[in-house]
Amino acid sequence: MHYDLPISQILRHELLECAPQTTVAEAAGRMHQARCGSILVVELGEVRGIWTERDALALNFSDPESIHLPVSRVMSTPVKTVRETDTVADAAIRFKQERLRHLLVVDRDGRRLGIVSQTDIVNHQGVEFYVHMRDVGSVLKSAPLQVPGSMPVAEAVQRLREARSDAAIVEHNGHLGILTGRDVLRLIGQESLNCSAGEVATFPLITVPRSSTLYHTRKIFNDRRIRHLGVMDEHGRITGLLSYADILDSVEQEYVAELRAALQEQSQRLQQSRHALLLASKVAESSQQAIMIVNAERIIQSINPAFSAITGYSAEEAVGHDTRLLKSGLHDADFYRQLYADLAAFGVWSGEIWNRRKNGELYPENLTITSVKGEGGQVINYVCVFTDMTEQKRARDDLKESHQRLEQQSSLTEMILDTLPVMVFVKDEDGRYLVMNEAAAAFVGHDKHEVVGRSDFELYPADVASRLRQDDIKALAAKKVTGREEKHLTPKGERYLLSYKRGVDLGGRRLLIGSSTDISERKQAEQLLAAERQVLELIASDASLQVVLDALCNRVESLISDCFAAVLLLQPDNGHLVLGSAPSLRRTCRDVGQNCPENPAVCACAAAIRTGKQIIAEHIDDSEQWQDCRDFASALGLKTAWSTPIVSPGKEVLGTLSLYFRQGRRPNRFDKDVIEHACRQAAIAIDRNRAMDSLHRLATVDTLTGLNNRSRFLDQGEAEITRARRLGRSVAVLMLDVDHFKRINDTHGHGAGDVALKIVAAIIARELRAIDICGRLGGEEFAVMLPETDGQGAMQAAERLRQAVAQEKVRVAEGVELGITVSIGATILAPQDANIDHLLARADGALYEAKRSGRNLALYAAPGNIPS
Ligand code: GH3
Ligand code: MG
Ligand code: MG
Repeated sequence: MHYDLPISQILRHELLECAPQTTVAEAAGRMHQARCGSILVVELGEVRGIWTERDALALNFSDPESIHLPVSRVMSTPVKTVRETDTVADAAIRFKQERLRHLLVVDRDGRRLGIVSQTDIVNHQGVEFYVHMRDVGSVLKSAPLQVPGSMPVAEAVQRLREARSDAAIVEHNGHLGILTGRDVLRLIGQESLNCSAGEVATFPLITVPRSSTLYHTRKIFNDRRIRHLGVMDEHGRITGLLSYADILDSVEQEYVAELRAALQEQSQRLQQSRHALLLASKVAESSQQAIMIVNAERIIQSINPAFSAITGYSAEEAVGHDTRLLKSGLHDADFYRQLYADLAAFGVWSGEIWNRRKNGELYPENLTITSVKGEGGQVINYVCVFTDMTEQKRARDDLKESHQRLEQQSSLTEMILDTLPVMVFVKDEDGRYLVMNEAAAAFVGHDKHEVVGRSDFELYPADVASRLRQDDIKALAAKKVTGREEKHLTPKGERYLLSYKRGVDLGGRRLLIGSSTDISERKQAEQLLAAERQVLELIASDASLQVVLDALCNRVESLISDCFAAVLLLQPDNGHLVLGSAPSLRRTCRDVGQNCPENPAVCACAAAIRTGKQIIAEHIDDSEQWQDCRDFASALGLKTAWSTPIVSPGKEVLGTLSLYFRQGRRPNRFDKDVIEHACRQAAIAIDRNRAMDSLHRLATVDTLTGLNNRSRFLDQGEAEITRARRLGRSVAVLMLDVDHFKRINDTHGHGAGDVALKIVAAIIARELRAIDICGRLGGEEFAVMLPETDGQGAMQAAERLRQAVAQEKVRVAEGVELGITVSIGATILAPQDANIDHLLARADGALYEAKRSGRNLALYAAPGNIPS
């Protein structure tokens, strides 16, 4: 049952009102018309009393004047009221204790709102359940009042009063009908009391069997809007009269029993709550939490021992004082305003607050305030429960401080790591980065925070990542620090790292700490140095220029990946470029079935030589300088060419170093270093080669005539003699001397003599075969060695030479032409000749004879003729 339900939820609002002087007849008429069982008697807005249907039955029907009495004379007064906010339980108790059936419901200002009857309360309290369960027989009272139809109404009403019944069965002309308070009310309203019961009663009497449920019966009452039913037994006899009130009376009895049980329960609860209170006070006594109860004016009413322990105030010192006793002064007025606002809104406030102990010390407490309300909803008390948070707060502050210190330390560590030029990183066992400093992040080309949580497989190509992973696994398993050099291919080119790694155990995890230094520059410098040393060693060991340049190109190709290197040489005498070295280019040309041109990329190289500057054709296809050489480039799939002039220390351009690539690219710093070094070495090699050449010439060539000098002739002659002897071939020697040369000098000057010597030398060289060797032995004396030549051949050659000289007009100066003759001595190699000197001596003997015989003559000295 809903005892807590406010009355306002169940009250009936229709109120029938009349003035006190209204006659009973008029009041009854209005009640009958409105089908209402009661009427309020109101005067000047004030309720004076109430007159009900039951009051109507109490009228003296034998006195015809009774219906003309003012209603105020017969009404019940005073009218008991109940507040709309009171609960159903409040009303129920009033009905029970004051034996009332109606209560006037008023608002807090006493204004009438409606009527509530005991029936209303019962009707709203579980009747449904009850009427389902019971049958008509269970509520039927004693035998019904039955009157004959001929009985005067006044007498019938008298009977009703006596039987304390509100209805009677009327038998009239063999039919059964019913006479009720409502019929009486109608009669009073019509002021016609002098009739018989049969004339007034309502026919027929509606009946139900005794076994019907109350539920069914109540439905008939409601559907037909009647208040009484006849009850039949199984033989069709009327054994009772059931009124709506009977059902309700019975329900009321049940209800009252229930109410009693509820009251008992309440009393038990009260008992229990007394126990609870006792318990609560024990709990409060022994609670570690401070408890303080204050009244609505915030005056302390009671405290527990924990309160005294925390605040230092005893019960005597605290009770009766304002809570301001504890105020810390740390919170402003707004804080407290908000606190009481929250309390008013939610009935509870919880939070941290600073208070002051008796000794003046401030302390933080964790406080919960609960407001306790009285019956009218006004706050009576506040229960404040708190714990001292000093220790917790200190611990919390310590924790915060150590956390801050830790954070500072870790950001300091981070700053230190980021300041280091060394790359530092930490990975977990699965190879995921936990830490990476800025140097390492810059190397990887990512933000250091992005890298955390990622592995090398997300940062490097798979092959590099898996190599690193293998290395990491080894380092994780090793006990000591492991170090090694690693090569990485980055967007900036090849980089070399010297990495140290170490596995450590931390917090139950195995971690890898690593540090790497970029040693690319050192490594590249070492490579350059090694390359330079190799080339310089070759130069120093007198290796040929070809060998040196091939080595140089190979080194360049090994340092700059995917390039073809070539050296082109500038010919000093004619300014032509010739291919000095291009080992892999030649190989590649051969592989693709091409002839390697002797002068590839002449255009770009010529431009480099002309300008003395490096020419970078990143895209050969678009380069102007390559206009005429594109076929060569496209046959080999070359996209890029860099041509760099090779310049001697004396600023003489010696040639070019050209690099070709199959992808478009520009030189980076290392490339530039490699090229610069290579050009310097090439310049040294070429320069040295040229110097050696000229030294060699100086040592072997007669500077005036360009023929072999004496020593060179003797060397070559000796070599030829050895060869002839080995092959069993003959070889001849001629000795030539210009006749009366002294006279030319004397007559035309030494210069003219020199010119004459040059012309004679040129004639000799011109008249000889390619395999013949000639030289100037000194002064105006020449020697010739004729391989594969016997004595006869020697004389033919000698005669040919003599005639050639004699026939030439020798123009020694402007307008001076001379006829010059030579005398010649000839001989051939004999087995007894120990060396070339013997041969020359024999030929010289023949020459002497020729001079003596008159000059311009060639004579032969047979091998047997050994001159004295
Ligand atoms: P002969 O017919 O007997 O050979 O008489 P000759 O004058 O040719 O011979 P001689 O030995 O008397 O003179 C040779 C001269 O050649 C002497 C020398 O001054 C001259 N002579 C030697 N070397 C050179 C040279 O390089 N240039 C010039 N212009 N004269 C030279
Ligand atoms: Mg001479
Ligand atoms: Mg001479």
